[in-house]
Amino acid sequence: MTEPTEEADMQEVSRLRIDCPHCGSHLRVRTSKTHLPEYRELYLYCINEWKCGYRCKGHVSIDETLVPSHCPNPDVSIRPSNWLLQKLALEAQGQISLGDFKPPKKE
Ligand SMILES: [Zn+2]
Repeated sequence: MTEPTEEADMQEVSRLRIDCPHCGSHLRVRTSKTHLPEYRELYLYCINEWKCGYRCKGHVSIDETLVPSHCPNPDVSIRPSNWLLQKLALEAQGQISLGDFKPPKKE
């Protein structure tokens, strides 16, 4: 068995599928609103429109930084994850270089 490549991992996680909580079909985003760079409201509808017809509102938020951006937006402040704080402490002690680390698979 081979290890999945980083590119394959990115493709896997970039396809977010949200299931309808009532019928199990997929929900699609009808529209979305952005109030903050790290927060987006989603207006969703069930693709099983005739038999189910469910509509809802949800949100997506970016809660923690795993690896800082190479081009940080000065208007954005997203708290570092505990994982990143540990790595920053080790880097400050000279024990590691953060350039050697990749984000954890799961928290
Ligand atoms: Zn449904």
